[in-house]
Amino acid sequence: MRSTMQETPLGIPTLLRFASTVYSGSQVHTVTADGLRTASFAEVGARTAQLAHALHDDLGIRGDQRVATFMWNNQEHLEAYFAVPSMGAVLHTLNIRLYPDQVTYIANHAEDKVVLVDGSLIPLLARVLPGFETVEHVVVVGAGDPAPLEAAGKQIHRYEDLLAGKPTTYDWPEFVETDAAAMCYTSGTTGNPKGVVYSHRSIYLHSMQVAMPQSFQLTEANQVLTIVPMFHAMAWGIPYAALMSGASLVMPDRFLQAPALVRAINEAKADFAGAVPTIWADVLNHLDATGEKIPTLQRAVVGGSAVPPALMQAFEERYGMRIIHAWGMTETSPLGCVSQPPAGTEGELAWSYRVTQGRFPAGVQARLAGPDGSIVPNDGEAVGELEVRGPWIAASYYRGEDPERFRDGWLRTGDVGTITPDGFLTLTDREKDVIKSGGEWISSVELENHLMAHPAVAEATVVGVPDPRWQERPLAAVVLREGAGATPEELREYLSGLIPKWQLPERWTFLASVPKTSVGKFDKKEVRRAYAAGELEVTVL
Ligand code: ADP
Repeated sequence: MRSTMQETPLGIPTLLRFASTVYSGSQVHTVTADGLRTASFAEVGARTAQLAHALHDDLGIRGDQRVATFMWNNQEHLEAYFAVPSMGAVLHTLNIRLYPDQVTYIANHAEDKVVLVDGSLIPLLARVLPGFETVEHVVVVGAGDPAPLEAAGKQIHRYEDLLAGKPTTYDWPEFVETDAAAMCYTSGTTGNPKGVVYSHRSIYLHSMQVAMPQSFQLTEANQVLTIVPMFHAMAWGIPYAALMSGASLVMPDRFLQAPALVRAINEAKADFAGAVPTIWADVLNHLDATGEKIPTLQRAVVGGSAVPPALMQAFEERYGMRIIHAWGMTETSPLGCVSQPPAGTEGELAWSYRVTQGRFPAGVQARLAGPDGSIVPNDGEAVGELEVRGPWIAASYYRGEDPERFRDGWLRTGDVGTITPDGFLTLTDREKDVIKSGGEWISSVELENHLMAHPAVAEATVVGVPDPRWQERPLAAVVLREGAGATPEELREYLSGLIPKWQLPERWTFLASVPKTSVGKFDKKEVRRAYAAGELEVTVL
């Protein structure tokens, strides 16, 4: 029997229409050198229509052509987030922090036709633009001298000139909910970056999940500081979820250093934020050093890499801010799971849930594949590679690349860990970062979490390095806090009370800072390379 229900497509034009009328008074604040500039959702809605007219009438965008952004988090980027998919085209967010040859590869692979660029990023785009084979138009947002772009021979426009005088409504076309709305490439820690293509439907359903109480719990009352870049995993879906829930947005633009973030939090009275752990570690150091406070900021979702429990504790105890740990990846839109403890749990028990990567929602099914590929139970004990499926999980990469990452309709995440019967995920590692010592696996994440809880340690990463006897052994790379001292012997002694003896690292090195990837994660590949090249001063105990 067929249902008798309507099949209204789920999609971005619906979110836009809804937010710009029902939540017309909610706001988007963008940080500038002179404080915040603010627009209402109604204004953003009107400018979104103007942008769509400009893209269609002046730049000739038709059908599913790709419109790329090379931008920070700001109001205009949000306008592109809504205009491009709503007019039927595909938004492609370029990661400005990738190596030039990777950015060029991605722009050509996606066949971008237009690039919107922030004025402040012109010099960065100028380095790669000549290699963008399919791009015809560059639109400069805000101030900035476009001269460096001219050599590439593209047509150059100014965003505000294009929008000026355009109608503030647009007759958004009918769309098919499973059609492409936006695309984003994974950073590609191995091989070339892979394209993930989101549909209108996946974004709509994902936004509902993000806003839910079990996830980010967003409402019209919230002021959401979106630090996670809009060029990385769609800023964790926060922009779309904010318009769906009426939450106001605070966009930091290029002002991402800890002092500027703290200023933005206080100026905009942000009560919720999202960013990777390394950003929060910087903010914590800044607060501790200056005595500044962030009284309005009650909650922050933190993910992208494992959140050290010591960081969660420090924010909670010293600044009254609750860190909510979450896991996801570009391929999962990215919300996979969020660690809200079960109702009724308190104290140590609640804490034991909060430090996990989180609980899967109804929309994400999860299972673990053991070393031989067979499925192991979700009993909180058995370890395996996490596989997920659901309506906002990728079923393939753009152009069918890397098909082995998918099997029987499940995405193989490359993450290794356990799942409890009540759906909480604990990751011990990425498959490629697991340390394989004498047939046993050592969790680099666990060692890092312990090290980062030591008072003298600012940052620590642990990687597997070749060992003639054990195949691999852990190398601990430690960054000490300013003015603090600790020897490898002391740190090893401290760890010996926390982990089994056979897991204790023999090799130690001290760094000025841990190298980071384009999205602020510890770059373990680089640490392994530096070790192999003999560039590190290593103490062997
Ligand atoms: P990449 O890091 O490859 O650029 P993503 O940003 O999509 O791409 O990263 C997804 C990966 O980040 C996950 O597969 C996982 O390894 C890691 N990750 C994300 N959240 C967490 C978390 N809370 N704890 C541990 N690892 C995480």
